[in-house]
Amino acid sequence: MSSTLTLESNHTLLNEIQTKGIRLAGSTDLSTRKGGAGPTDHKAVTIFGTTLMIPVYSYSAKNSPFEASLPSKMGYASLKRNGENITTIRFIGEPKFYKETTSDGVPFWKIARLHSKDVLATTVLQNCIRYNDKETSCQFCAIGESLKYDTTIAYKRPHQLAEVAKRAVELDGISQFIMTTGTPATADRGAKLLFESVEAVRAAIDIPVQVQCEPPNDFKWFEKLKNAGASSIGMHLEAVTDRVRNNIMPGKAEVSLDYYFEAFKAAVTIFGRGNVSTYILAGLGDTPEEILKISNKLIAVGVYPFVVPFVPIRNTPLQDHASPNKDFMHKILDPLAEALVTAKMTSDTLESGCAKCGACSTLSTFEKKKIA
Ligand code: SF4
Repeated sequence: MSSTLTLESNHTLLNEIQTKGIRLAGSTDLSTRKGGAGPTDHKAVTIFGTTLMIPVYSYSAKNSPFEASLPSKMGYASLKRNGENITTIRFIGEPKFYKETTSDGVPFWKIARLHSKDVLATTVLQNCIRYNDKETSCQFCAIGESLKYDTTIAYKRPHQLAEVAKRAVELDGISQFIMTTGTPATADRGAKLLFESVEAVRAAIDIPVQVQCEPPNDFKWFEKLKNAGASSIGMHLEAVTDRVRNNIMPGKAEVSLDYYFEAFKAAVTIFGRGNVSTYILAGLGDTPEEILKISNKLIAVGVYPFVVPFVPIRNTPLQDHASPNKDFMHKILDPLAEALVTAKMTSDTLESGCAKCGACSTLSTFEKKKIA
């Protein structure tokens, strides 16, 4: 089957694998794995030359028709669907930089993590004003979980980020650094922390950096962040209608969509078209039509809408919420890729960021199919 698959069929198969997940042969009790924030129930897997974050430890992956054999030392495994061989895949292993520690004794892996195959990612501030109150927290978020399990530290200092970035580039050929942050109780929404972090990293090593935060009170922060060395910025909507925002993320919904759009427009004047992006979680309750409508509006102002299938994270209020199925995602990704190709704002044209990495969605494989 593998030899006859073309890019044309791969993009739909990859979408199906990402929405259904992969079971690991011989792993009988995946539910015991503890902790982590972000895509913690995923693994980075290279399939048909594309590296994607695939749910492996999530509950839904346990019922997936896709099963991988136990990986070899180099990470290779065979992928089967309902028992039929599809292809050889590769699980991305631990990077070399994880073995080192900062000058003040913190293990590098607690400061920043490898995402996909060559992206360094960190959450500069591992707390958020909204997180500890059910009235305000985003129900999909697990920012406090990794702190509980001591797999990270609450605040990553600029010199620690710089030390990790330098070695991650030297040892593992990291291609970009993505810095997100929980939202502090300051009007800049974390922009100042990101500014200090980017400055320190860029003084140590020349690497593209994306910063991610809520829209700050003062849009002058965009220029400061750009001057400090950030090449792109992400301000993440996650849900796109007031109906879903109020329901799923009541605290963050107080920042209106109109204000996000003001911030997007201001940021595009500084970072340029496409180098402002937003992360949209499909499957939280917005319809494909609603996601496409706002995506087209975003593209028109120069913002890249990075639409990813929602994958529930354990120990969050949405841990039992279903992921969207492949047809739901196809209905969004196919026309969205077309619109991005038409706007000449595809993933490969971006400087840095999640939309450049692309591993949490198959959107860029849909783009490639449109270009092919
Ligand atoms: S798309 Fe963003 S969150 Fe997903 S693996 Fe890449 S860097 Fe990490």
